Amino acid sequence: MQNRKKTDQTISQTDLMKITDIQFGMLRVPLKTPFKTALRTVDRVEDIIVMVHTDCGHIGYGEAPATAVITGDTHGSIVDAIRHYISPRVIGQDIANLNRITQLIQGSMEKNSSAKAAVEIAVYDLWGQLYQAPLYKLLGGGDPVITTDITISVDYIDKMVADSISAVDRGFESLKIKVGKDIGVDIERVKAIYAAVEDRALLRLDANQGWTAKQAVYALQTLEDAGVKLELVEQPVKARDLEGMRYVTERVHTPVMADESVFGPMEVIELIRLRAADIINIKLMKTGGISNAVRIADIAGMHGIECMIGCMLESSISVAAAVHLAVAKADVITKVDLDGPSLCQYNPVDGGVNFNESEISVSDAPGLGIREIRGLEKI
Ligand code: MG
Repeated sequence: MQNRKKTDQTISQTDLMKITDIQFGMLRVPLKTPFKTALRTVDRVEDIIVMVHTDCGHIGYGEAPATAVITGDTHGSIVDAIRHYISPRVIGQDIANLNRITQLIQGSMEKNSSAKAAVEIAVYDLWGQLYQAPLYKLLGGGDPVITTDITISVDYIDKMVADSISAVDRGFESLKIKVGKDIGVDIERVKAIYAAVEDRALLRLDANQGWTAKQAVYALQTLEDAGVKLELVEQPVKARDLEGMRYVTERVHTPVMADESVFGPMEVIELIRLRAADIINIKLMKTGGISNAVRIADIAGMHGIECMIGCMLESSISVAAAVHLAVAKADVITKVDLDGPSLCQYNPVDGGVNFNESEISVSDAPGLGIREIRGLEKI
C-alpha cells in the first residue's frame, strides 16, 4: 500500500523520498479580536493547507493565506498555481535534492509568492523528516526559543490603550501598533499607548502604507519631539514608493523598516543600494518560501542590516517554518513578529513548535514536527 507509514527508524539516508502527490485542505480558525490595519479588517484565519505526499508515507505540511491586497494571492489562485504549475514540476522529485526542488518551484511561474511558499514549507518539512532533524538544525542550528511581539489593531484610542495594557499584562514586551489611518489621530494613539505602557514594552509602529512621505516625517518628528521612543516604524509609505521610504529614512531618528516594499532578494539589494530603509521585514509569503528568505537574511547580514521575521494571518504550520528560520538566522533576524497563532482563539495544530503567548519554543521533532491538524476541511 502506497500510503503505508514507515517508522522514522526505518528510513536510512540512502533511502529515496520521492514526491508522489500534493493535496489541499482549508483551515479556518476564528481570531480572538478582529485584525484591523490601514488596508483591511479580518476576523479569522482562513488558509490553504498543502500536504505533500511521498512514496515512503511521510507527509510534508505547508500553508498559505489569501492576502490579495499585499501579495495578490487568493485561495483560488494559490490552489490553481500549485495544481497546474508547481505540482507537475515537483512530482517525482527526490526530497534529498532540496536545491533542485526549490529552483523548480521558484521557476514555475512569475509572482504567486504565497503558493510557492506553501509548497516550499512542506518540502523543507520533508527534508527535515528525511534526515530526522528539526528544520532549524539543518538550517544552521541555534537556541530554539524566541520571543515575539503582538499586534495591536488600529481602533479607537481607548480600545488600543486597553488592548496594549492587556498585552503587556500577558507578558508581551514588544507591541506592534497598527496606525496609518488619520495622521492627527495616529499621533494621539501612539502618545496615549506610550504613556500607558512606557517602561514596560517597546513600541513598533506599522503604518501599512497609510501615510505620505511628508506625513510620515511630520508624525515621527512630532512623536520624537514629544519624547516618545519608538523601536521602529514599518512601511510608512506606499509599497512602490522607494524614494518616499528613503525620504523618511533620511529625516527621522526612528529606524525605518520596509515590509510591503520588499518581497524577494533582488528588491532587498535595490533597497540597500538606495539606503531606503534601516531594517527589512522578511515574510515567507512574500519571499516565496524559505530558500529566498535565507538569501535575504544572508544579504542583509553582509551589509550589517537587521531583519524582522513576520507573518500574515497564518496558523502554526507556516509560522512554525518562520520560527525555525528565525532560530537558525538569529544573528540577523533580531526582531520577531510571529503573532499569528496567538491571535487565534485556539491552536488547531499539534506540532513541534510551542506557542505560549510571547514565548515560542521548538522541539527536536524532525522537520516541522506536525502531528495533527484538527478541523481541516477537504477541498
Ligand atoms: Mg507590516
